Amino acid sequence: MERIQNLIDGTLRPAESGDWLDVHAPATGAIYAHLPDSDERDVELAVQAARKAFPIWNKMGLEGRSKVLLKLAELIERDLEHFAKDESRDNGKPLSLARKVDIPRAVANFKFFATAILHFPSEAHLMDDVAVNYTDRQPIGVVGCISPWNLPLYLFTWKIAPALATGNCVVAKPSEVTPMTAYRLSQLCAEAGMPPGVLNIVHGLGPKVGAAITAHPAITAISFTGGTRTGAEIARVAAPMFKKLSLELGGKNPVVIFADCDFEDMLATTVRSSFTNQGQICLCGSRILIQRSIYDRFKEAFVERVKALRVGDPDDAASDLGAVVSKDHMDKVLSYIDLAKEEGGSVLCGGSRVVLDGPLKDGWYLAPTVVEGLDVRCRTNQEEIFGPVVTLQPFDDEEHALALANNTPYGLAAVLWTRDVKRSHRMARSLQAGIVWVNCWMIRDLRTPFGGMKQSGVGREGGVDALRFFTEAKNVCIRL
Ligand code: NAD
Repeated sequence: MERIQNLIDGTLRPAESGDWLDVHAPATGAIYAHLPDSDERDVELAVQAARKAFPIWNKMGLEGRSKVLLKLAELIERDLEHFAKDESRDNGKPLSLARKVDIPRAVANFKFFATAILHFPSEAHLMDDVAVNYTDRQPIGVVGCISPWNLPLYLFTWKIAPALATGNCVVAKPSEVTPMTAYRLSQLCAEAGMPPGVLNIVHGLGPKVGAAITAHPAITAISFTGGTRTGAEIARVAAPMFKKLSLELGGKNPVVIFADCDFEDMLATTVRSSFTNQGQICLCGSRILIQRSIYDRFKEAFVERVKALRVGDPDDAASDLGAVVSKDHMDKVLSYIDLAKEEGGSVLCGGSRVVLDGPLKDGWYLAPTVVEGLDVRCRTNQEEIFGPVVTLQPFDDEEHALALANNTPYGLAAVLWTRDVKRSHRMARSLQAGIVWVNCWMIRDLRTPFGGMKQSGVGREGGVDALRFFTEAKNVCIRL
């Protein structure tokens, strides 16, 4: 059975503790690998290596760093099929999705930031006859990157690529639930020409490794993506240490459907925005709000489409949904379906575990589930479920739609369906979300600011925002 290793100072090595944790394949429920059960000793070694590497990495300059990151992108692209298979096995997502979305996006993250850094502008401010100011953006030093399990390599690289491009050295922790593709990446760093210690990957549990990264005094900036509760814990520790923090947290995203929308386009896209990656994308729409005049038509057509979705072997190209990521997570989602019923909801389809045949019989599969009849304030409509479960609620007009859409503690994403241009502007301004998709979903331009409002996070990543986050701005003022 494969043993995943930490990457510290350019060397692949086990945890200092010598202990191992199990890695499961969600498709079968079986243990298929082990990962190091690291702790603060491994984080300390990683920090020391990163500090040592910092001047070397900076001396390579923009061009030198850009070349290494582009090479890394090229190597992932070369091994795309292996990466996709590993991602699907580790996470349970359909192989087709890993091949089409996850791994190509990891490649794109490296390419984007490797070139963005070459075009990163700085400002100059002239004061008439007095002085000239310019902004010098310097790397911070050693930064921490902590990522979740739902889009493992996609989100891991979304953090480490800008951190490295701007000249920082990194101590990174992928999710212990899905560590495999970050490990594969660590096996390519030397071949890409990355000096030892520039990128360190410490595997293990959040409360041990993640907490040690958060608390380490030499790690002065932390970029975190994960649950809101974990984000609050990180902020609790890091804020009094005055660390720079970027927190990308949970969501409970509304899909607002007006009667004047392109019905067929909306229907097909809403099936995707509900159930892609088994509903385990922070940007999935989990509360579907439908204008009352088309509520019944939508409900009938949507439920028919959802019932036709195939839950099956992630390796099978015909599977629309694979397995959810863990048994714990499956049980959590099932408990929310029970809660929805207790709260008075009607399950229109799904609502249970799916048991497949043969070697997949112990895998963690859930039927895509649609619930209606719940009040906006109930827990099912307020709390993040993060699985293949959506609720339907009718609304009367724009004002009512906004009142429902904004009525959660979250504010990550919103989807709006209407052919009325003026309404789309009005609604987009008023929806409390970091991103509003109008007549589309999941179109991502890496230059745009990405992040959430309210309890969905603090700060923005992507494009110039990421380059700014990972640098310290210094105003240099020179007397004329
Ligand atoms: P999680 O918060 O449980 O874990 C995320 C990471 O934090 C993991 O690597 C984990 O080991 C680590 N961690 C756990 N406890 C820690 C601690 N005390 N200190 C430091 N690190 C710790 O989240 P998850 O279950 O892996 O991911 C699902 C969540 O992520 C959902 O809430 C989802 O909405 C959110 N998410 C948000 C975005 C976004 O961009 N806003 C994107 C993807 C996922």
